[in-house]
Parts: sequence; C-alpha cells; structure tokens
Amino acid sequence: MKIQELSTFDPVVDEIIEREETRQDNELELIASENYASPAVRAALSSVLTNKYSEGYPGKRYYGGNSIIDEIETLAINRVKELFSAEHANVQPLSGSPANAAVYMAFLEPGDKVLGLRLDHGGHLSHGHSVNFSGRLYNFVQYGLDPKTGRIDMDELRKVALAERPKMIVAGFSAYSREIDWAGFKAIADEIGAYTFADIAHIAGLIAGKQLTNPVPIFDVVATTTHKTLRGPRGAVIMCKEQFAKQVDRAVFPGMQGGPHDNVTAAKAVAFGEALKPEFAEYSHQTILNAQALSDALIAKGYSIVSGGTDNHLFVVDLSTKGLVGKEAEKALEALGISVSRSTIPDDPNPPMNPSGIRIGTPAVTTRGLKEADMKVVADIIDDAIINREDEVKLLELKGKTAEFCKRYPIPA
Ligand SMILES: *Cc1c(COP(=O)(O)O)cnc(C)c1O
Repeated sequence: MKIQELSTFDPVVDEIIEREETRQDNELELIASENYASPAVRAALSSVLTNKYSEGYPGKRYYGGNSIIDEIETLAINRVKELFSAEHANVQPLSGSPANAAVYMAFLEPGDKVLGLRLDHGGHLSHGHSVNFSGRLYNFVQYGLDPKTGRIDMDELRKVALAERPKMIVAGFSAYSREIDWAGFKAIADEIGAYTFADIAHIAGLIAGKQLTNPVPIFDVVATTTHKTLRGPRGAVIMCKEQFAKQVDRAVFPGMQGGPHDNVTAAKAVAFGEALKPEFAEYSHQTILNAQALSDALIAKGYSIVSGGTDNHLFVVDLSTKGLVGKEAEKALEALGISVSRSTIPDDPNPPMNPSGIRIGTPAVTTRGLKEADMKVVADIIDDAIINREDEVKLLELKGKTAEFCKRYPIPA
C-alpha cells in the first residue's frame, strides 16, 4: 500500500511523531498494557477505510456504499470467533472502557447491583470506581484478594455473592498475576442466577495464544481490548453466547456508539489473523516465561512480589520492604529509559495517588525478542537504578546500558 510521506505535507506533526518513534526505539517498555503493533496492523490503520461511515452491521447499514466494509467487518468477526471459540462477536467497540459500558448497558439497568474486584486489589476503573461512569450508574459491591496469598479469595467471593445477590459478577483485572478460576466464578454466579462477565483486556493475547484458560465458552459475555497482549490496534471486542447477541449488538450501536472505525476494524482483522498463527502461541509462551524470569530475578534480589510470582505477563512489586514508594521507582527508571507504572498493592497503606508498588509487564519487550537471560540483566538494571536513585551519574551510566540493550533488540519493522 502506498502511504504518502507525512514529512512532505506536515513536517511539524511528522517531526513530533519521529521523536516519539525514537523514544520508543531507545527505551525498554515494561508497562504491562503496552505492546508494539506490527507494520501490517499499522498499515491497515492508516488506510482509506477511515473515510467511510458504516453505522449498523454487515448487511444492515444506515449508509450506502458499504458492501466492501461489510466484507472486512465480517472477516474480523469470523477470525475473532475462531480465535476464542466464540458464538457471537461484535468488533465495533472503540476501546476497552466503551466496550464495558456497552456490556453493562446490554445486561443491566442503572442502579443494578454488580460484583467486581476492588480497584486497589487489581480491578479496573470501569469496574465500579466512584469517579468512573460505572460507579456512578451502577451499584458496585466489591470482593478482594486474600491478604495472605495475594490471590482471589473464592470463599470470600461466594460469601459476598450470596449476601449481596448481584445481577452480574465481573471477573477481570488490570494488575492480577494469577490464573483465574473461570469455572469457579461461573458456579458461584449460577447459585444466585447472576450474569457472568469476563473482562480479559490484559490477558486476551495469552488466551488467544493458548497459554491461559479461555473464559469465552464458560461465561455469558466477555470483553477485551485488542491493543494489549493481543498486539493489535487500539480498540476492543465483545464476545457472547448467541442468546445475548441481539442485546449486545444493540447496546454497542445505537446504544453507545455511532459509526464504527472501519480502518481499526481492518487492523483488528489483521491482528486476529496474526494471532491465529502458531508463532503467536510461541510469542505468548515467551511473554509468560519472561515475566516469570524477571519476577524470579527480582525476588532473588530481595524484592517482594504480590502473590509471590506470576502465571501471566505481569506482576506487582511491593516496594514497601525496600523503603520507597512506586512513584520514586517509576521516576528513577524513567530517567534511564525504562517505563513501568506505579500500582497499588492489596490493602495499600499509602493513598491511591502515591501507591506502594510498581506493575511490570513483558508483552512489549517480548515482541522485541528479549528472552529469559535478558530478563536477568533487566532485573540488574532495575535494582541498580532503585538503589542509586539519588545518584545522577550512576543513572546516566545505566541509561547507556538500556540504550545498548534496545539497539540489540530493535522493534520489529
Ligand atoms: C485496559 C483495561 C480496560 C480499558 O481499556 P481502554 O481501551 O483503556 O479503555 C478495561 N478493563 C481492563 C481490565 C483493562 O485492563
């Protein structure tokens, strides 16, 4: 596909993008929710499909000229259904939070009770936080992690579910590092006749890569972003049982959204095609091996990891035993070109704006080609930076180390 040189038409914007490209090239990305989309995904994103209006669904549009768009949306739907063994899929949600809004709209009335994981235990804003639409529109009640194990306490979950009798139970997290007992959630929901909603925004790629259990055949409805471990364009998908297909589609359009972003739909189709290949299973496997190697290396250096390790692509480091807070570590690492995000730990003694931990994830560095042995070096750099966080000379030296590492493993282009 021919893409006109942006530099010719708008050198100002082009120069800013160039600088961001350089930043991405020269920094180690350990933010658990980020990844590098393939050149094929980016090509589809910048295609002429962005010009089209396609309100409605394949075969039932409110605008003319959509027969080719119908083909691309149908292809994306079929690929994602195959990837997750889904009965029904809607590929139009613009991002994870709007997808969750559509799910709630499809199954609930405002004021209905929903059970979700506490945000400070690893839940997501859109699972009932008071500043988010979810917390304002619905009556969220919360379950938590077992403070001793750092894992979901299924007994507490059942107790809260039986006492509160929510209309829906949400399973799905932004900072939880362990396998999820989907069948256990479903059994508890069935006891009280609640809908089951899995938000697999973080782990979708690992499920598509056959490394983690797939909730789609078990749960009523599942939503995911497409840009995290799934490595596609920014966007989302909702999958559900056939019996809920109509209400889910109606909630996305006309309930929540107007026209779908057809260029993004095409990029989703490309990403699903990539995820269906055997190489993607290898990538997903390596992502988990890298997360485990990095958490093991940090544990060996005396760091405390919530739940003691990870089954997926991320983990949360509790820095309280090292005498600093997440923000200080985030800042020290940023100075040498390593991105992580500060994170709460379960029952965090510090306020949410200044939490005690950092969340580390390996999807992006694994796309660059780093392996377990490299994770040991990364752990050395992280530890060195945290110990010497006041020492600007040392941090500069470490910055050089990070840059060398990035040169050795360029972002696939
Ligand atoms: C990232 C995430 C979302 C939100 O996705 P956006 O595309 O940022 O709106 C929703 N739920 C969970 C669990 C997430 O991790």
